[in-house]
Amino acid sequence: MRTSIATVCLSGTLEEKMRACADAGFDGIEIFEPDLLVSPSSPEQIRALADTLGLTLDLYQPFRDFEGVEGPQLEANLDRARAKFELMNRLGIGTMLLCSNVGTATIDDDAAVAEQLRRLGELAAGYGVRVAYEALAWGRYVSDFEHAQRIVDLADHPQIGTCLDSFHILSRGWDPAAIEKIPAEKIFFVQLADAPQLSLDVLSWSRHYRVFPGEGAFDLVRFMAHLVRSGYDGPVSLEIFNDVFRQTAEDRTAVDAMRSLIWLEERTASYLARHDGAAGYPMSLATLPGVAEPTGFNFAEVKAENAETVSALLHQLGFTFAGRHRTKPVQLWTSGAARVIINGQQAGGMEPGISALGLDVQNPQAAASRAVQLRARPVSRRSQADEQVLQAVFAPDSTEIFLCEATADGTAAWADEFGPAVPAEPGESSAAPPLISSIDHINLSQPWQHFDEAVLFYESTLSLTPIASQEVPSPMGLVRSQVMRSADGGVRLALNIAPLIVESEPGGAEYPQHVAFTSTDLVATARLAVERGLRFLPVPANYYEDLAARFRLDPGFLAELQDLNLLYDRDGDGEFLHFYTGTVGNVFFEVVERRGGYEGYGAPNAPVRLASQYLASRGEAKPKAG
Ligand code: MG
Ligand code: MG
Repeated sequence: MRTSIATVCLSGTLEEKMRACADAGFDGIEIFEPDLLVSPSSPEQIRALADTLGLTLDLYQPFRDFEGVEGPQLEANLDRARAKFELMNRLGIGTMLLCSNVGTATIDDDAAVAEQLRRLGELAAGYGVRVAYEALAWGRYVSDFEHAQRIVDLADHPQIGTCLDSFHILSRGWDPAAIEKIPAEKIFFVQLADAPQLSLDVLSWSRHYRVFPGEGAFDLVRFMAHLVRSGYDGPVSLEIFNDVFRQTAEDRTAVDAMRSLIWLEERTASYLARHDGAAGYPMSLATLPGVAEPTGFNFAEVKAENAETVSALLHQLGFTFAGRHRTKPVQLWTSGAARVIINGQQAGGMEPGISALGLDVQNPQAAASRAVQLRARPVSRRSQADEQVLQAVFAPDSTEIFLCEATADGTAAWADEFGPAVPAEPGESSAAPPLISSIDHINLSQPWQHFDEAVLFYESTLSLTPIASQEVPSPMGLVRSQVMRSADGGVRLALNIAPLIVESEPGGAEYPQHVAFTSTDLVATARLAVERGLRFLPVPANYYEDLAARFRLDPGFLAELQDLNLLYDRDGDGEFLHFYTGTVGNVFFEVVERRGGYEGYGAPNAPVRLASQYLASRGEAKPKAG
């Protein structure tokens, strides 16, 4: 599949955009006219730059308001087209995009409009270029791709064909199955965009909210399948008008774009293999190393200059010190299958924060290879000759994602590099199984501008599935929370968009992130933590009054919850008990107990947590009601 992207998708100058597209691996680009008009480079220089970068110039766009006009206006429009065809010759571009008329059309007559397109085709033939006619979703008389195709058929000119744009087709609810009926040689160009489902006029929706394939709600796999079946084999190009992409770093956006297209290509290939078997089509679709979902968390890593604040919390939660790394200032703490690494390498001056997480996967090499083909940046960590070589890539927020070999007994081969462990203290029972058994979920905050990118990253590279997102009120603003998980819940990753105020506050801390552990007995874990002096995140008395009103809880149980600062939730599937530690640096811990089939995260309690942390961060933690 030939990949292309419109320069309007990216920020920066035309030259910067072109470099970013080439670096991300696109085959070609569409030149968006306003980008050229403001460039100091001549058309010949742009052509030479594209050549140097190995990019083809696939489309010149847009040409507007040409057809369906009266005689004198038509002559003026043909003059305008002539100038653009001359320009295209200088650029070496063979195809121009013609959008259906939205502003000046007065003639609603397909035969007359087709005749005007035929004249445009005659003119284009003299320059050796082609015109791809696109039905804009808000075109005055032509807003439906099948209608545009009827006009192209009537025009019956070799230089006149169709441009299909998934946004204009799917936003209006047109059935893309009709694409299969269009002769492949008449499809001159294809543009792809996804979009979230919004109740918005289609023009505003298109101009501001388009997103890359896989980041919105459109069924682009089915769209692509119809396109492939039509026999089309030209460029598949991204045309995304999005306010965020136009103000974030172009190289990063280009990589996000490329990832979305590679992933769409793979999903289309597998859809066609399922539905059409080995039917051969002109367009060849590349696939990626397939990976199963990760089966669990292998570890969480906290980076900190000073390990003590973190290790104290872990000890209070019942973790044991499993030793220091043989060669590095790194500690391992474990409880059951829950492993936390405290990494002091290159952590000078750093407050504690989540820096890496390990996932158990069937085949680390295949998983890493897939991620890298999806343009994830590999992590290179120096390791000694006798150490485990671990595969890892950077997530969009720079968290390092380690792909670890899943073992049948839940052990980690790399843990042998740590030791010796501290023997249990007298009076501590080392025979009883630890209360905390595993990592339940990890919560990472995401900068708002990279949120869609992060969701696409985890879904495409790691096969995690996004669950319907939620909005949680906090004193700093609404926190949008998106859970990505594996089907069996072995891996649950919660991505939160931090309210902007936290980032903009001078000297303000980063939005804290957390690791949540599963306990087999939350009350016992909390009691142990009290004994060991844990400072719990305080929970206000008002919360417990509300809890009593919402659920008919046994008064003794309710008193115990309140006494220990435990939070509670219940739904049709089961119950959820949890508590939070105070925050050190940018990290805190949560312990949860899931009873029955409860699959949530205590969302009704999240506002209590956020408000309590807000108070604590201002040094006004409310004294515990007594
Ligand atoms: Mg378009
Ligand atoms: Mg949580």
